[in-house]
Amino acid sequence: MSQLEIQDLKINLGDKPIVKGLTLTIRPGEVHAIMGPNGTGKSTLAKAIVGHHSYQIIGGEVFFDGKSVLKMEVDERARAGLFLAFQYPSEIPGVSIANFLRAAVQARMAEGEELDATGYYKRLYSKMDLLKIDHKFTSRSVNEGFSGGEKKRCEILQMAMLEPKYAFMDETDSGLDIDALRIVAGGVNALRARANAPAPGILLITHYQRLLNYIVPDFVHVMYDGRIVKSGDKSLALELEAKGYGWMKNELAIV
Ligand code: ADP
Ligand code: MG
Repeated sequence: MSQLEIQDLKINLGDKPIVKGLTLTIRPGEVHAIMGPNGTGKSTLAKAIVGHHSYQIIGGEVFFDGKSVLKMEVDERARAGLFLAFQYPSEIPGVSIANFLRAAVQARMAEGEELDATGYYKRLYSKMDLLKIDHKFTSRSVNEGFSGGEKKRCEILQMAMLEPKYAFMDETDSGLDIDALRIVAGGVNALRARANAPAPGILLITHYQRLLNYIVPDFVHVMYDGRIVKSGDKSLALELEAKGYGWMKNELAIV
């Protein structure tokens, strides 16, 4: 299966350079964690790759299945198998979770193919059970009046239903207590361990090492000022937790 290749990507917000030449390859089944201080461009990277309209790509490429992701429309990117769990999920008043997910699942099916309602609900409820989301949530509007933790679980419910090939999870752990964190991680790990499909590649954006105890990364990258400045294995996350991010400025000044 195909890898996701981010090559020397440069992203502006208006005139302001945010991502300043970032290269990263994620292979199927791999978990990459990106850590770094606030404002370094982590969310910008994830949002721009899935096609958020606010950002301008001013250089570089992203390849998936040998095709340029950047040339695809946003819905094409989603149907190709890219998925973003937002740091700040939007509320969609008037659209129930059941209808929202049903439309999203239907949109991924071939033309003329109809979603079987019974099978769909069975799958939805089993994923909700896995994520310990009350079935009553099915008829609630997407994220409306949800707590921070409920919104994050709803993002992972979408991920579980859509079964992406590559998922970006943007601070999915923030606002979760330890029990919710375990449940969310369990949902993600279940998706990785499916018997009937290859495991997705995952890019985990996080501030904290604790999520990485539950979703163990193959690689950890430190992002600073729009670039990856250091990469390593999971021990790098522990080092960051111990040292904080302040040292980076000094270390980078020496390089
Ligand atoms: P991170 O996720 O690493 O905290 P972001 O990608 O959210 O960083 O932000 C990178 C920079 O871009 C920051 O300086 C932030 O203030 C700015 N930025 C991001 N999105 C917006 C926006 N919609 N409007 C204004 N500034 C933004
Ligand atoms: Mg962010």
